[in-house]
Amino acid sequence: MKDFVSSWMDDELAMHRAAVARFVETEMLPHDARWRAEHNVGHGIWRKAGALGLLCTDIPVAYGGAGGDFRHEVVLYEELARRGITGFGQGVHSIAAHYLLNHGTAAQKARYLPLMARGELVGAIGMTEPVAGSDLQGIRTRAQRVGEEYVVNGSKIFITNGYLAELVMLVVKTDPGLGAKGTSILIVETRDLPGYRVGRPLEKIGMHAQDTSELFFDQVRVPADRLLGGSEGRGFAQLMSDLPYERLIVAVQAAATMEGALAATTEYVKSRKAFGKALLEFQNTRFKLAEVATLTRVARTFIDSCIQQQLKGELDDATASMAKWWATDVAQQMLDECVQLHGGYGYMSEYLVARMYADARVTRIYGGTNEIMKELIARSF
Ligand SMILES: Cc1cc2nc3c(=O)[nH]c(=O)nc-3n(C[C@H](O)[C@H](O)[C@H](O)COP(=O)(O)OP(=O)(O)OC[C@H]3O[C@@H](n4cnc5c(N)ncnc54)[C@H](O)[C@@H]3O)c2cc1C
Repeated sequence: MKDFVSSWMDDELAMHRAAVARFVETEMLPHDARWRAEHNVGHGIWRKAGALGLLCTDIPVAYGGAGGDFRHEVVLYEELARRGITGFGQGVHSIAAHYLLNHGTAAQKARYLPLMARGELVGAIGMTEPVAGSDLQGIRTRAQRVGEEYVVNGSKIFITNGYLAELVMLVVKTDPGLGAKGTSILIVETRDLPGYRVGRPLEKIGMHAQDTSELFFDQVRVPADRLLGGSEGRGFAQLMSDLPYERLIVAVQAAATMEGALAATTEYVKSRKAFGKALLEFQNTRFKLAEVATLTRVARTFIDSCIQQQLKGELDDATASMAKWWATDVAQQMLDECVQLHGGYGYMSEYLVARMYADARVTRIYGGTNEIMKELIARSF
């Protein structure tokens, strides 16, 4: 089959891709098994990625970013996802940086974006609470203004990068009586912060290298100038406006995961023998692989068109929701086939498709569940 090159690629991006692939192969892949055992990737790899200019690539140079566009981010997501590296929470870090870029005051952008681009502050987003996930209006974490500070009490759960996070975009209630309009986002610097506590990385059925954690806030004092955008009650609108960007990231990762799984499975069925011939010679294998290759190409084509829309600033909520639910659902189905074609080896964590299969399950849940995606699409009718 001819190699498929996305229409948005060009020579400069091909060089960027080569550099990213080299970094992932040499600095990440050899450590993935350890990261999975330790349930986090450590701060060192963030600093290295930042030093090489691989973080915040679509943030303007004036704020310490690389001054590229969404395609430069996509290249990193793809090179990670194709190799099954899921512990490095670059997506969440980028989304946190975009909250700052799109909604922060000039001082907030100038202070935090360069540090995030250098990987000196690992970013996280604290929305979900034990009592509120899909229904974010139900969050209870309270930030009460006392003089020139907010006093924060509450907890968050399932926070990606939570264990390593040095900067948390924390969704809080500044006025519990006002529903969505009483919600704000606080920029919380976590180092040596009295009253702030991080739980152990949570034990999950996949994404073992990712430090998904609980965060606890007990009388935590945050300077009032860390309110994102500088005025209270805008948190919900700020969250909503960046959702297409976030959902597209999950869809991009799903499409690239499918490509990585297809390549690994094709190689496997060519080399594995049963009944005196390669698995690829059985008609069932050929048909299953043909289906998987077709779904992968359809996903690539759809996601590429969403990337183009995002680049033009035209990606709407409904289309981004379609991309998120469809790509993650289809990725899960095709990974199941890839595991099956590997036989018992497909169930062994040392095989790429086994790790991808377990890691992919959560992509239908986080970033807004796939049911919520369908709800959002239906609202656009
Ligand atoms: C590994 C991992 C990483 C995560 N990372 C982050 C993070 O970095 N930051 C963060 O804030 N959160 C994060 N989350 C949380 C994640 O976004 C939530 O788990 C998700 O939004 C669902 O919320 P919930 O778990 O409370 O489920 P619920 O909202 O309780 O949903 C349970 C079920 O009910 C369904 N449901 C709910 N409402 C409706 C409806 N209106 N119509 C139809 N069905 C509905 C859901 O689709 C789901 O199937 C992460 C979760 C995981 C597992």
